[in-house]
Amino acid sequence: MSVIANRPYGTKDVLPAEVNKWQTVERCAAETAEYFGFREIRFPTFENTTLFKRSVGDTTDVVQKEMYSVTAKSRDNGKDPEEFTLRPEGTAGAARAAIENGLLNEALPQKVYYMISCFRHEKPQAGRLREFHQFGAEMYGSKDASADAEVIALARSLLDSLGLENVELFINSIGCPKCRAEYHKALKEYFGKHKDELCHTCLDRLERNPMRILDCKSPICQGIAKDAPVILDFLCEECSAHFEKLKTLLNDMGIKFSVDPKIVRGLDYYTKTVFEFITNDIGAQGTVCGGGRYDGLIEQLGGNPLPALGFAMGLERIIMTMENAGVEFVPENKCELYIATMGEAAQRKAAVLTNDLRADGFFVETDTMNRGLKPQMKYANKIGAVFTMVLGDNELETGKAKLKNMETGEQTDIALDERFAENFYYNITSLKLKLDS
Ligand code: ATP
Ligand code: MG
Repeated sequence: MSVIANRPYGTKDVLPAEVNKWQTVERCAAETAEYFGFREIRFPTFENTTLFKRSVGDTTDVVQKEMYSVTAKSRDNGKDPEEFTLRPEGTAGAARAAIENGLLNEALPQKVYYMISCFRHEKPQAGRLREFHQFGAEMYGSKDASADAEVIALARSLLDSLGLENVELFINSIGCPKCRAEYHKALKEYFGKHKDELCHTCLDRLERNPMRILDCKSPICQGIAKDAPVILDFLCEECSAHFEKLKTLLNDMGIKFSVDPKIVRGLDYYTKTVFEFITNDIGAQGTVCGGGRYDGLIEQLGGNPLPALGFAMGLERIIMTMENAGVEFVPENKCELYIATMGEAAQRKAAVLTNDLRADGFFVETDTMNRGLKPQMKYANKIGAVFTMVLGDNELETGKAKLKNMETGEQTDIALDERFAENFYYNITSLKLKLDS
């Protein structure tokens, strides 16, 4: 079978009839982020592979199993080939761009957001794709818990604006490298007793990064992990105080949350606060948003040491949750006027009128298929045109046409002169006012 007209496994098309769902979320996300003082940042779809290995971490599922990488010819022939990877997430690329362009030398905090496609070689299922989309926000420069509260408040506010008040917030602290050393020891001791049962990958993790075992998707490893020691019992004084302050602030702000000591997040760069927003409404893939603090990452990527934090929302999962909740999406724009034509002279006049009205910001259509009047009117009906107007020799001669309200059938005369746009504006506005009241 030909694959030319098939999309790659695990990818999706969004057709015009559904794109308003995406636009609803994207516009709301951008608007909310901007109210919170975040500015948009854009960066490449692919990066040097080492960036992700270094940041996401080479004991994570993402790096070990899920990256799409290519080896490409070197820039200067003869040298080693270059390794690139399609971004599996946004934090690394955003941080790289912020460092490379000196953004972090400007007034702090720096707050950025992005809307990106991400790529992971995973088993496609509901809410899990190979190309998916994220809305992400990152904040650089503050080590204080008030920054954590602000970033969480942004995610909460966006979810609320989208009508997803029922999506629940879970928080945890995974400490700093200092307290984690003790915790790792305890985990090694605990999982060491279950060596025979752990999956192959987790055996390796036991040596290199035992906390990753808590994030394993294998049911057997998950079963063992259930009774493992929890990080909250190992937090140092500073991390503990940070977590307490965050909880106080969230309570003050009226943001509901539960502490879930099992959340460790799937990426290595996290420190202290981690959080997830979870819904029970869309099946197994219920995490619609994940984030946390990553105080070591900027330095690890070659920048001056700088605390940072952020989150990413999976837009496919957000839209699924909204559909499930019966939330209303912003409707498509409606064609305000369809100009039907009879004869070539009318077609020429309609082309000019349509072009002028569009320049004035009206949504206008006219026939470009050379069809008869009847099929033109049928088409106008199908696209839901609010008004129609027929232009023929008669109208051109008298300089007048009839504007027809397609809902009521009501007709009003309108002059085809230089005040046409103004008159049309009057008609469409009074109709909208009538509908609103
Ligand atoms: P999961 O546990 O579901 O695999 P994750 O921990 O790998 O998620 P993150 O790396 O934190 O996910 O990415 C942030 C968000 O991006 C997730 O909460 C989810 O909403 C979304 N996401 C991650 N992977 C996918 C995917 N393959 N398809 C669709 N959405 C995804
Ligand atoms: Mg994953």
